[in-house]
Order: sequence, then C-alpha cells, then structure tokens
Amino acid sequence: MKQMDGMSVRAAVFWVNRDFLMEENRAIDALTVILRTRGCRWRACRMCGFWHESVPSVTQDEILSQFSSALSAAFKKGLLRRDDDFMLKIFTSGSFFDDAEITDITRMRMLDMLSEFDGLRKIIVETRPEFVSEEKLNACISALNEANERCFMEVAFGLETADDFIRAKYINKGFSFEDFRNAALKVRKCGASVKVYLLLKPPFVSERAAIEDAVRSAIAVREIASTISLNLCNVQKGTFVERLWRSFMFRPPWLWSAVEAIIRIKIETEKAVISDPVGAGSRRGPHNCGKCDKNVKDAIEKFNLTQNLEHLECVRGSCTCMMIWNKLIEVDDLLFNAIP
Ligand SMILES: [Zn+2]
Repeated sequence: MKQMDGMSVRAAVFWVNRDFLMEENRAIDALTVILRTRGCRWRACRMCGFWHESVPSVTQDEILSQFSSALSAAFKKGLLRRDDDFMLKIFTSGSFFDDAEITDITRMRMLDMLSEFDGLRKIIVETRPEFVSEEKLNACISALNEANERCFMEVAFGLETADDFIRAKYINKGFSFEDFRNAALKVRKCGASVKVYLLLKPPFVSERAAIEDAVRSAIAVREIASTISLNLCNVQKGTFVERLWRSFMFRPPWLWSAVEAIIRIKIETEKAVISDPVGAGSRRGPHNCGKCDKNVKDAIEKFNLTQNLEHLECVRGSCTCMMIWNKLIEVDDLLFNAIP
C-alpha cells in the first residue's frame, strides 16, 4: 500500500492499493480519499472511533480543496498513472449524502471534477441510510454520467449485521434492517450498485456466533448487494469496545474465523466478497497465534483480488493454532448454553 498522509488536520488522507472491480472481474488500482468533514452525525456505534478525526469547523471550500489536492497529488506522486483504469473511494468517516457534512453543491462540484480522469471506472461512497433520497441519487448519478460515462457508482452501507437485535443492542447502530433495505432499493432503482459492510464479531457475540451471524447476514443481503465487505472488528481508541477489551471482555476475531466466514459467504452468495484485515496480527486487530498471522492475512488479500477460494483453502491448517481455534468453536455451544 502506498500511503500519503495529509500534513494538517484539514488535509485529506489518501492512498492507492489494488481492489477488485466486480463489474469486469479483475483487479485495478483504487484511490481511497478520506475527507475531513464535520464527521458522522450519529457517532454512537460501540466500535467506531473515526469521529475523533472529524473537524467541526471545516468549510465546504476546504472539503473541495482536500478532494482536488488528493486527486492531483495521487497522479503527481506517481501513485496512479493517467492511462490506467482506476476506482475512487470517497469516504468521510461519515455519510457522503449527509448535507451537514457535504452540501449538494459540494457534491456536484466534486463529481464535475471527475471529468478530467478518463481512466476512472467506478466511484464508491458511503452513507447511513437516512441520508439517501432518490432526488440526491439521481442528481449525483447524472452529474457523474456527464463527467464520465464509463464510470459506475456504488453506494456502501455499514449494515454490520442483518440481525436487528445485535445491531440495536450490541452495536448501537441506530437504524433497522428495513431502513437499510429501503435505502438500498432506492440506490438500485437509481442505477447504482450496493456494497454492504458486515462486522465480524460485534461486542458481546462469541466467536462461533459471530461467524454464523456474518454468514446469515450475507445471505439476507445477497439479493440487494453486489459486493459484501466483511470488516473484522478491531479495537479503536476511545471506544466502548476498547473499554471492554481493556477489561478482558472482548477479543478481536481470530483470522481463522475470518477465513471460515469469507469461504462460506462466497459460496452462499457468489457475490464479490472483500475483507480488508485492518490491524491483522496486532493485539487490537484480528489475530491468530502471532506466528501465522502474516500468512493468513496475505491469503485473505490474495483472495480479495482474485476471488479465488483456493488461496484461503490452502492456508487452512497451515498452523497448529488452528486446533485451538477449532476447540474454541467446538466448546462455544457448551459455554453459551446451546447444548443442555
Ligand atoms: Zn497460528
């Protein structure tokens, strides 16, 4: 990953890596731009610390200049090349469609700027469902088509789980499956595709129950989503999950659990399945025994770019700690009273 950090809190953070372009079944460069906005309006999810990075006083002009600087710097520094196809992820750690973060005018100006980039094949934005309307979507999609007719739009939702009880009580997400579904259907109706983030191992969910919940959730969204992204719960600073973790009441998921969940989700849904193992191998991130973490992380990353399950099948059983994980999964029912 080639990363460039902004020098000030008012500069966007951006980097380029490879990602899978599901529409063409191949991997291409992906520029991720994280804009500093006033941040997520909800800011109450138990695992999320992103809102600490928000800048309440930022202006719309500053957001536009963050965006254009990041785009031009990515080319100037040689992270992207003019002739190559690429995708662009515009993230705010909040919602692209929240007018309090990014106004209509700013959104239109950002999309207009994209006319300069012939190689752009897809943009991905994130939002909570309550900020989605057909009016906003239609305006953005026609602006995008005008700027670049080869470019698709994908809208990502952090659904986390299809289980309303887990989402409400354990994650404190503040929207229901029905809210997500209605917003996602609007996105589809307006001609964009839907990406769904699922959270592997929310707080208070055991290792095995977490795998089952992720697989069930993927099945529940497979008719709506084109891409399923499995986020492995990590321990971010200043969060409720961090408090649990410090009190030995939360362990991030095993990478073996991620491997198991990804394989089952891919087989069940046949969608593009992505999992970026952020912080893999660290105590705050998803981890195994320490010896095999890098290997398993590499296998997940290879799978991301090829969608070939062999990378994951091969790595299974490559370390003796998989036996410990197997036992853990086995005794889960006993520990949590599923077996009388
Ligand atoms: Zn191991």
